[in-house]
Amino acid sequence: MKYEAVIGLEVHVQVRTASKMFCSCPNRYGAEPNTLVCPVCLGYPGTLPVPNHEAILKAVRAGLLTECTIAKFSKFDRKSYFYPDLAKNYQISQYDLPFCTAGRLRLSGKGFSGAELPEKYIGITRIHLEEDPAKLTHSAGASGADYNRSGVPLLEVVSEPDMRSADEAYAYLTRLKEIMQYGDISDCDMEKGQMRCDVNISLRPVGQKEFGTKIELKNLNSFRAAHRAVEYEIWRQSDILDKGGSLRQETRGWNDDSGESYLMRTKEQAHDYRYFPDPDLMPVTFTDEEIDEIRRTLPELPEAKRARFVESFGLTAYDAEVLTLDRAVAAYFDEAARQSRAPKLVANWIISELLRLLSEEKVAINECRIAPKSLAELVDLIENKTINGKIAKEVFAEMFATGESPAAIVKAKGLVQVSDAGAIAAVVAEAIKANPAQVEQYRAGNEKVLQFFVGQTMKLSRGKANPQLVIAELRKQLAE
Ligand code: ADP
Ligand code: ZN
Ligand code: MG
Repeated sequence: MKYEAVIGLEVHVQVRTASKMFCSCPNRYGAEPNTLVCPVCLGYPGTLPVPNHEAILKAVRAGLLTECTIAKFSKFDRKSYFYPDLAKNYQISQYDLPFCTAGRLRLSGKGFSGAELPEKYIGITRIHLEEDPAKLTHSAGASGADYNRSGVPLLEVVSEPDMRSADEAYAYLTRLKEIMQYGDISDCDMEKGQMRCDVNISLRPVGQKEFGTKIELKNLNSFRAAHRAVEYEIWRQSDILDKGGSLRQETRGWNDDSGESYLMRTKEQAHDYRYFPDPDLMPVTFTDEEIDEIRRTLPELPEAKRARFVESFGLTAYDAEVLTLDRAVAAYFDEAARQSRAPKLVANWIISELLRLLSEEKVAINECRIAPKSLAELVDLIENKTINGKIAKEVFAEMFATGESPAAIVKAKGLVQVSDAGAIAAVVAEAIKANPAQVEQYRAGNEKVLQFFVGQTMKLSRGKANPQLVIAELRKQLAE
């Protein structure tokens, strides 16, 4: 039987703020365990939560950037459960009145597998704000709880069951992460647990309208793992259905080492969270004017940026995609491209040289010593034929190491390209004279030898000759 997968994601995103959601402890990753804590986030009786406005503002920004409706009236609720990661026995969350509802996000481009994605929107059911529980660690014989994470503001973004493949789920996650980063909402560093996702997936026979039984997959700590897990679940569920079996609603974990999902709990074991409004917190209200005010501070989103890069700088869709994956890279390109006469060439240099070097040297783009303006200058030096491409790479390496301007390096090292006809004719003559055997071959009709002579001539000129002029001159002299 042919099945269609139906997928909905629940993504948790830690909000980047100075302090935690309901207390003044720093919101910081990587400190000694249980050093960033206070009576509030340790759940001592008698303490009172005070909401963090920066976090609420960022929740609203997230909603606006995903075309959600922002609630003018919302509130916090208590979600009751008993587990060591929550000292209070309840988590402050939002139940029926979240900050953001009914948004959407557009998929485009290619999926993880390289296949073209359908142009479509994925609905966002809701985005609510809650507090992160403590981080539990389990090792042989001992478990630990780090309450530094307890109380960190956490957004939960729930999608509609609108995705139909692992590729679409992967693309959705990629877009969501971009939005969170561009919107200054979160850094979304998955290794630090700043973005975590649960996947809900069901199968239905192709053509059937009703959804099948939903399985929830937890512990997906990379987009790649989410992609693998979806592919695996599609296979596992189809296999059961094909053999005449039936599925039950359950929660499964994902083991990325074995590449398999495993049963965690069935629906019968599901919690009853007994939600009720938190009596310690006032409802949150916004006026239309306040929401518009926040809307005015929103940045240009990657989608719009890509369109602008294609439109005004003549980039291909692919280049625009690569250059907007990271907001800092996009800003760097934008600034360099505006100052150059050849923005397309600027893009090539960033994609093929700069990004490679940055990752090799483990340098972040905002710590890069090559200023965007300098890269624009380098490209213009190539454009106006002051230097050739090969020399440019040498200059580029020097710029990367020292931060010097390209003009200064070219001048100091005497690297200006030689385009003087007489000088070129002289080196070409020298190369021909030194290689009589190859001259014979060329004259016997072996065109490939021309490349050999180009190499020899460039070497003799120490890379400075203008290659186009060299080729023309070689053809001329060899024919004589
Ligand atoms: P629950 O009440 O179990 O939390 P929800 O209706 O709140 O379920 O949905 C949770 C997530 O599961 C959402 O992202 C939603 O899109 C997705 N989902 C709901 N039903 C299905 C289904 N039949 N197949 C796949 N995903 C689903
Ligand atoms: Zn605290
Ligand atoms: Mg739910």
